[in-house]
Amino acid sequence: MAPVQESLYGEKRRRRALFVDRDGTLNPDPGYLKDPARLELFRGVGDALRLVHDHGELVVCVTNQSGVERGFYTAEDVGRIHARLNELLAREKTRVDAFYFCPHHPDRGCACRKPGTQLFERAREELGLDLARSAIVGDRWLDIEAGRRLGLLTALVKNPGHEQAVERELAEHGCQPDLTAHSFAGAVARVLARG
Ligand SMILES: [Mg+2]
Ligand SMILES: [Zn+2]
Repeated sequence: MAPVQESLYGEKRRRRALFVDRDGTLNPDPGYLKDPARLELFRGVGDALRLVHDHGELVVCVTNQSGVERGFYTAEDVGRIHARLNELLAREKTRVDAFYFCPHHPDRGCACRKPGTQLFERAREELGLDLARSAIVGDRWLDIEAGRRLGLLTALVKNPGHEQAVERELAEHGCQPDLTAHSFAGAVARVLARG
């Protein structure tokens, strides 16, 4: 991967990213997913990620995995889930380019758990990203709030059956997404339509 491209004039050009949440966004969220064999992708995710790459953008997954500090699974288990996710995506000729996760309990008050922005800032440095031209897709207020703090375009996926709960959550935290859709593929289509 060569994230930072040289322009015609030799200057380094930072790349756009599509930041994606994991559970409830790329895959159904069974709650503290530990077993890679139980991972499945939502329909249309592979096609959508191929479109993102066709636009020259990187796909960067940022996920809160408090199950690590809660003792439900290990950081290695999280790595296995991510390997499995990319194995499933490889069948569709695509992939997530990088994964970042927070392993901490919410009570710890760390800077990396979303809506904290630390993991995004790390990705910005490590991958050479232009955050002002990047976007995030997620299914919870904390994805939208992280994106808002970073100046990303924010897109909410409203999963069937969870519309009211997520509406309530957003209102409570006083944050609203720039775009909403009823599927990941729909959200990506709207993000890419921005040009
Ligand atoms: Mg989620
Ligand atoms: Zn953390």
